[in-house]
Amino acid sequence: MYRMILAVAAFAFVVACDSGMPKQDEAVAQDKSGEFEKVTIVEVASDGTKKGAVTVDKVVRTKEEWKERLTDEQYYVAREKGTERAFTGKYDKHYEDGVYKCIGCGTALFSSKTKYDSGTGWPSFYEPVAEENIAEETDRSFGMVRTEVLCKRCDSHLGHVFTDGPRPTGLRYCMNSASLDFEPEE
Ligand SMILES: [Zn+2]
Repeated sequence: MYRMILAVAAFAFVVACDSGMPKQDEAVAQDKSGEFEKVTIVEVASDGTKKGAVTVDKVVRTKEEWKERLTDEQYYVAREKGTERAFTGKYDKHYEDGVYKCIGCGTALFSSKTKYDSGTGWPSFYEPVAEENIAEETDRSFGMVRTEVLCKRCDSHLGHVFTDGPRPTGLRYCMNSASLDFEPEE
């Protein structure tokens, strides 16, 4: 019995140390009554105009469900906090008018109006379309301290934000194309 407890504890330790795991336990967002955790986000038209705040269920899916919905590349980036190779993403040199949404849940994240060519090989924006729609976390992986940017509604990893961006914010939201889905302006 004691040996079994030790084995379970060791397994839990390994899981907890695996930085590739989605940070949020998929069961955590669901409370005892089966109700999903709510989140307030801003709805945005395809021209980037804010339509107002809405309170919606947080999007929570199992690993298997995510894998069914996403390509391998999208899963690796959005759910395992991966980074696509520079200059390979489909939105790096993409300058049509419209809104970039989350690949995981469709939440509007960035407007083409704030997109610029940072020269880094990743789609870059100087601000999100609505602060309410993103979350930021400190990321200490790879011996660096960076600010990770995530989707507020489904916790998908989007990229990082740096302070070497252009005016008016001075911020550079360095995103992965794999985490985004573009909706052209109507
Ligand atoms: Zn999302």
